[in-house]
Amino acid sequence: MNTQIRGSFQWMKSLNKSIILNKVRLEGPISRAKIAKQTQLTPPTVSNIVKELLESQLVIESTQGESSGGRKPTMLEINAQNFYVIGLDVGPKFLRSILSDLNGTILSSDIVKIPEQVTITKLVEMMKEAVHSITESNQDSKEKFIGIGIGMHGVVDVDKGISLYAPSLQLRNISLKEIFEEEFNLLVKVENDARALALGESWFGNGNGTQNVITVNVGRGIGAGIVIDGKLFRGKNQIAGEVGHMTVDIAGPQCDCGNHGCLQTLAAGPALVKRALRGMSMGTSTTIPDFIENIDLEELSGNDIFQAAKAGDIFSKDILYETGVYLGIGLTNIIHTLNPDRIVVGGGVSNAGDFILNPIKETIQKRSLTKEAKETEIALSMLGDYGTALGAVSLVLVELFTK
Ligand SMILES: [Zn+2]
Repeated sequence: MNTQIRGSFQWMKSLNKSIILNKVRLEGPISRAKIAKQTQLTPPTVSNIVKELLESQLVIESTQGESSGGRKPTMLEINAQNFYVIGLDVGPKFLRSILSDLNGTILSSDIVKIPEQVTITKLVEMMKEAVHSITESNQDSKEKFIGIGIGMHGVVDVDKGISLYAPSLQLRNISLKEIFEEEFNLLVKVENDARALALGESWFGNGNGTQNVITVNVGRGIGAGIVIDGKLFRGKNQIAGEVGHMTVDIAGPQCDCGNHGCLQTLAAGPALVKRALRGMSMGTSTTIPDFIENIDLEELSGNDIFQAAKAGDIFSKDILYETGVYLGIGLTNIIHTLNPDRIVVGGGVSNAGDFILNPIKETIQKRSLTKEAKETEIALSMLGDYGTALGAVSLVLVELFTK
């Protein structure tokens, strides 16, 4: 690890430094005078800290600002391109890896399929390979790397950086932080994937600038990351945000968890596919078969249904509408529990865009308690397929930028 940065983790714990650094990150280019005014720190304090930040190369002087009479002030901004963070997204099916700068700009990305019945050894080997491939193609800029963030499917012990249980992979107790810190000598942060995505949204995406944002990831299951006052909320035993298992229909289909009518049995990807297959087996008129990528009906995906809907298939539109209504019910429950500034919907199902977003909004309009609650902002994730990997990157940035 870059010794400059390693040392800097110590001094950056100083509160004022992180306040100033965050100011520059969120509002740069910004002048020293404006920082002093907005943070109510004295101009000499700001000057001194900025001097250190410049020496660390985390902040650079950039363009000249507008003058309000007199000399034009020198502006400050984050030296984003000078530092790299690696983000890994270990999902139930795929391993995604990215190289990002401090602004969340993805410089390279890769995706590999995780084999079925993967072992811990094999999974760790695949993850190491993904990181090595990034560091090796950037041999010349070794000193730029500051950390590795890992968004891991399942239950994670965040403090120790251990994947406690990854249900879809059927793996337990992987000491990811220890393994990767030893292998790469970089700072390593590990978090549950839905929470990593939520943090990523709050740093780089549609949650940017909001303090209280819930990101609901709708893919094979449904999970939420809760950011309150800019920080992830995990709950006492790490199960805060398991919104996929909120009951929305006590007579509904049985869930993996054993209960009936959990939100994810009605609105996650597999539920859409089941509904489509049931309709087709009953002879409903639909053009879905024209859009199936793999001829095998078993392989029907949510994306096939979305493609059919885009081409005007009524049955597909109805399936997405119904999914949106169920999600709207789930989100209304979230609004009534946490009253967030904004809810961001991500994951595969969110690719269906307005087909899903409109019924979600309609349902919230109908069901929420107050005028303000009805108008809670609902947005689709803008971060795309690598959102969770970017979220993993933000795990490292939190260490760097906040006290
Ligand atoms: Zn459940």
